[in-house]
Amino acid sequence: MRTQVAIIGAGPAGLLLSQLLDAAGVESVIVETRSREYVEARIRAGILEQSTVDLLRSCGLGERLDTEGDVHRGIHLQWPRERHHLDFSELIGRTVTVYGQTEVTKDLGRARAAAGQEIVYEVSGTAVHDPETERPSVTYTGPDGRPGRIEADVVVGCDGSFGPARAAVPDPQTWERVYPYSWLGILADVAPSTDELIYAWHPDGFALHSMRSATVSRLYLQVPNGTDVATWSDDRIWTALATRLGHGQDGWTLNPGPITEKSVLPMRSFVQQPMRHGRLFLAGDAAHIVPPTGAKGLNLAVADVALLAPALASLLRDKDPAPAEAYSDTALRRVWRCTHFSWWMTTMLHTSEDPFDAQLQLSQLRWLATSEAGATGLAENYAGLPIGF
Ligand SMILES: Cc1cc2nc3c(=O)[nH]c(=O)nc-3n(C[C@H](O)[C@H](O)[C@H](O)COP(=O)(O)OP(=O)(O)OC[C@H]3O[C@@H](n4cnc5c(N)ncnc54)[C@H](O)[C@@H]3O)c2cc1C
Repeated sequence: MRTQVAIIGAGPAGLLLSQLLDAAGVESVIVETRSREYVEARIRAGILEQSTVDLLRSCGLGERLDTEGDVHRGIHLQWPRERHHLDFSELIGRTVTVYGQTEVTKDLGRARAAAGQEIVYEVSGTAVHDPETERPSVTYTGPDGRPGRIEADVVVGCDGSFGPARAAVPDPQTWERVYPYSWLGILADVAPSTDELIYAWHPDGFALHSMRSATVSRLYLQVPNGTDVATWSDDRIWTALATRLGHGQDGWTLNPGPITEKSVLPMRSFVQQPMRHGRLFLAGDAAHIVPPTGAKGLNLAVADVALLAPALASLLRDKDPAPAEAYSDTALRRVWRCTHFSWWMTTMLHTSEDPFDAQLQLSQLRWLATSEAGATGLAENYAGLPIGF
């Protein structure tokens, strides 16, 4: 096959990139290891920044998002016996929207199918060749076991944290932080017990009450690394959530319900730079991972491709290489801002064995809850800085 842009990975970054490129008159082909059904059912992120929502709307993906997405004005910050609401809308005039990554991926999948996008699902052995030349290519084994090759002007690695594209950049600089705790996450068929997300500091460990819809709740508990999910019965999970989220305080109750999904997610920060090598570009989790506490992973992937699509259109359509050459440096400014914010939220809210750390965390939380300057900083980062920041 011959195309202008060969994209590896049909997650949110790869699918949205092909949508934006198509709108700019640039053609692409995507290869993906999983099936379309698998990709669309993968439970992951659920909070969209204002600029992500604006971008999805601007490229024709706003219909279901506007009817089914739930706009949140802010978040609740909590520690024992105290709960405070931070109103982003009042503080900075921006909001976030609860709309699952599964739904974003379904909307993108439908839009790409309607546009006749070439996507080869269920490939294996994907490899990048000749990124230093103007004729890079991607090879793979197709679902029928036959070898495939895509010759392109540009290859984009949107293949997430375990894909091969990152390794095709020689001698990159990398930074990594592995946190000494994980999240036990559940999906439950029960109406959320809160109007907006509750981020709770507790001596037993952090807890988060999030949601996916009016009938589905998403909740998380801080657990030690290496936790076996089988050691957490449904009862044990709901009891720990009730304690950490403050069931019974000021008349607030946590409503338990049937748990439909349970998994343990390790927490890691990772950045690789540069995000470009010759005609190979990296976007989304292929170049950076953040712990989910700041709800940034999906939004960063969107911000990367929002920068990359016009840069590739300039390169391939208008023969202007300047935006593509600037892509890595420009994208990394936001990547590092979000990396810092995600690290800050994580280390402020997760408890360690250290009583000194606990006092610092509580002091920081009290400041955020009572100082407009503090709250504004959190709001600006959480609801998201403009694309191109
Ligand atoms: C378990 C989990 C829970 C998460 N929860 C949250 C959350 O609550 N909040 C939040 O903000 N973020 C969360 N994230 C992060 C967020 O989901 C990611 O940041 C987001 O999916 C990034 O999109 P992406 O397209 O860059 O990568 P991905 O979504 O990982 O997509 C990459 C795609 O590439 C494909 N691929 C991989 N290797 C190859 C190959 N060799 N050839 C072809 N295709 C390949 C993969 O199958 C996948 O479809 C979570 C991530 C995980 C893993």
